[in-house]
Parts: sequence; C-alpha cells; structure tokens
Amino acid sequence: MKALILERPRDIAVREVQATGPAACEALLQVRLVGLCGTDLNSFRGRNPLVSYPRIPGHEIAATIVSGGSATLPDGANVTVYPYSQCGACAACLRGRPNACQHNQTLGVQRDGALREFISVAPNKLFPARLELQELCLVEPLSVGFHAAARGEVRPGEIAVVIGCGGVGLGAVAACAFRGAETVAVDVDDHKLEIAKLAGATHCINTERQELHASLQEIAQGRGPDVVIEAIGLPQTFRAAVEEVAFTGRVVYIGYAKEPVSYETRLFVQKELDIRGSRNALPEDFREVIRMLEQGRFPARETITTVAPLEKGPELLSDWDATPARYSKIMLQVS
Ligand SMILES: [Zn+2]
Ligand SMILES: [Zn+2]
Repeated sequence: MKALILERPRDIAVREVQATGPAACEALLQVRLVGLCGTDLNSFRGRNPLVSYPRIPGHEIAATIVSGGSATLPDGANVTVYPYSQCGACAACLRGRPNACQHNQTLGVQRDGALREFISVAPNKLFPARLELQELCLVEPLSVGFHAAARGEVRPGEIAVVIGCGGVGLGAVAACAFRGAETVAVDVDDHKLEIAKLAGATHCINTERQELHASLQEIAQGRGPDVVIEAIGLPQTFRAAVEEVAFTGRVVYIGYAKEPVSYETRLFVQKELDIRGSRNALPEDFREVIRMLEQGRFPARETITTVAPLEKGPELLSDWDATPARYSKIMLQVS
C-alpha cells in the first residue's frame, strides 16, 4: 500500500510500504482523509522533540471500517479515531485521565500514523458520526480545545476568554460557546477572529488595535472574566491570563511555552486562582465535538484551506513550511 513517509526532517515522499494485517481484536480501516496540524509541520521541520524518524504522520483521521466491526460499529461505517494510547499504570491513567498518560504514544508522532491506505485500530478508539469526511477529520483537533474548556469547567452565562484563535484556540472558542458561555476571542489576525465569530464568539478583540485590559474590563463590568484559556504559548499571554482573570477565576493553559515564564505569583494567591494545564483530549471530549458538529454549529468549510490527494503531501508540506500564513488546515485524500 502507499504511504506518506517522513524519512528525516524535510525529507518526505509517497512510497509503497508493506501492509500488515490487523492484530486480534482490532478493526481494519481504510483511511479516507487525514488533516495536518502544527505538530506535523514541526515534525517536518525537525522541531518536534517527541517524534522519531522514519515516521508516517497522521492523527486527524476519517476512515471506513473494512472488517472487524460490530453491531454498533458496522463494517462500512465512517469513523474518526482516538489517536492516543494509554499505559494503564501511570498516575494519570490510574486517575482516569488517560489523555495525560505519562507514556502516551500518539499516532503519527511516537508511532506510525494514518497517512497510508490501511490502519488497524482497537474498536474502543473508533467514533462513528453522521458527518462528512472533512468534519470527521476536524473532531480530533477541535477536541483539544474542548478538553481545555472542560478543564476550565466553563458554565452557561460565564464570561470565557480564549487568547489565540489558531487551530486549538478555535476549538476552545467553539467549546465555550457550545457550553453557553459569553465567549471572547482574542487574536491579532482579523480573519481568525471572523472565523471565531462564526464558531460562536460573542466578542472579538484584536490586540493590534484594542487594549486587552480595557476591553475585558468593559465586557466583564470591571470584574474580569471567569475563565481565561491561553492557546498561544508566549510569556506575555501566559502572564495576561492571570492578570486579566477575575478574582477566584480559572486559568487554563494549552499553549506550549518555548521558554521559561516569569510571573507576579502574588496574583495566584491574592485572587485565589485555579490554574490548570490541558493536554490532548478524553473520549467524552470527542463525543461532545461530534454532537456540536452534528448540530451544524461549526464553520467547517471556512476553516479548511486545502484538500488534495496524498501525492501532493510533500509539495504542500514544503509550501506550508515556507509560507505558513497561506494555510490554516490542509487535508490529504488517502483513498
Ligand atoms: Zn493535530
Ligand atoms: Zn499511563
């Protein structure tokens, strides 16, 4: 079967690989469409410390069950795949939070992913949905933002702020809106803010033109927002989250900071904050995203920049690397 293989950083090609049959208790899937995200771009650039080479990328998956289905997951059904693994023995797994498993291996990162014609997966990692293939590919990336909103315990009527409206941040915006919060999207890019509005943001702040503190004070009538979700990873936005959030508010970090961040830690104490990290997603986050997409409440079309055959993968990744602003979401048709 054909596969897209990242031999080493910046060396990527479509070539034939040996097909392996499914292990006992696994379902065989024909891969249809795979989305690429920043993780894949970083693997291509050699800047993802978790990836080893050679590697077949692909963890945002739409596939059709070929064999090994069941009554609830019949052969022929379209599904998306939960791409994380769990060791079952670490502290996170024992606490029922396998998304943060210490020994997690994500498809396409620590083990080969879905950019090949067939993969085999345990049935408990398959999620069926009445969705188009393109929407099925959006479930995993959106679920990461949904998990952040769950970590922030965002409730109806609360004011939730999402700083950064890239792929992950946009999922968090959609999640906060889906949970009934008054949702504030913050970015420096008007186009991203427009899409955030379509995803349910009630207020948009472009910090190139508007002052973040004054705008949030006005929206939250001087109290500050109940929840702030940081989805960029810069020192100044990490700090802004604790500075802007209300007294006794919640702060959730999903952005990965690339350098140490210095804090006015008295704010943690003085405001008695709940500060939480958020990583990957849980199966219930997948189910919540599917519910939202099935209700047609997400601007799927507007977020996808390019859909192209697998053979275009090497060219598209090189072009994305050279001109990152040109693309938001690339999807590759595998079969
Ligand atoms: Zn991804
Ligand atoms: Zn574990």
